[in-house]
Amino acid sequence: MTDSASSSPLLQGGYTGRFAPSPTGPLHFGSLLAALASYLDARAHDGRWLVRIEDLDPPREDPTAAASILHTLEAYGLHWDGSVRYQSGRHAAYQQRLEQLISQGLAFPCQCSRKQLAGKPHHGNCHCHATEDIAWRFLCPAQGEYCFDDRLQGRWCEDLSRIGDFVLQRRDGPWSYQLAVVCDDIDQGMTHIVRGIDLIDSTARQALLYQALEQPLPQYAHIPVALENNGQKLSKQNLARPLRTDNISATLTAALQWLQQSPPAGLQQAPAGELLQWAVSHWDIRRLNGQQALPAPVIFRRD
Ligand code: GLU
Repeated sequence: MTDSASSSPLLQGGYTGRFAPSPTGPLHFGSLLAALASYLDARAHDGRWLVRIEDLDPPREDPTAAASILHTLEAYGLHWDGSVRYQSGRHAAYQQRLEQLISQGLAFPCQCSRKQLAGKPHHGNCHCHATEDIAWRFLCPAQGEYCFDDRLQGRWCEDLSRIGDFVLQRRDGPWSYQLAVVCDDIDQGMTHIVRGIDLIDSTARQALLYQALEQPLPQYAHIPVALENNGQKLSKQNLARPLRTDNISATLTAALQWLQQSPPAGLQQAPAGELLQWAVSHWDIRRLNGQQALPAPVIFRRD
């Protein structure tokens, strides 16, 4: 394993990484890539690898998905440390962080509808004094840039004037992904986050929350997206096929090759455990440097 992350000061306290799926459907090839890359990066650093089910939006969820995702991870040999965390059981923790932000003057109540805010940044301009039927928003700096160094994508900057005051808790009650993911990544001591590049635009918002909560930012590595024939992301919305559990070695081999790792021909039919052992000891994340999108293997695309 060769990687500049091993010299990170964060590693003095050890490496903790995670896979954090939303239970909207079964695991497909695209989500396996994020699970596998985060697993290999953690294990190659002798780190802990946790699984967290991000089940905060029941209308978008499939009640059978969490069990199916966990079953598939185990079938693929991706064994996690400790017990699985479910965000649906974490309301008190999010409330506490929200109160911290309110007391710091960094969160404010807002009743504006999406229509009223349409297309406009809204730096504090929808502040209201109501106490019911309100969303809570984070007061984002009105201008400037937020930049961070991604392990794969290099220096990545967001124009803060385009972000605006983002939601922490929705008017109808649910916690936002941004608040919940940061609270749990802090609470679970994440030092490294390896996830799909479709989430890279969220990183600046999450980094602002880390700053506000006075916590060190983890190191990020955003892996490329796997593409369908039509150039769209392989995703549940695009009806990506659920992974099967009867051709695990072939699927794992295809996933490793997609991640630009090259398991030797003699190992490609080996049981998952053996393939993963090889992959951990040969993991080189830098082979994905600068890659933002790669075609999915033909068999995992829709017809
Ligand atoms: N739950 C998010 C998703 O499934 C991923 C969260 C993250 O990795 O930060 O898209």
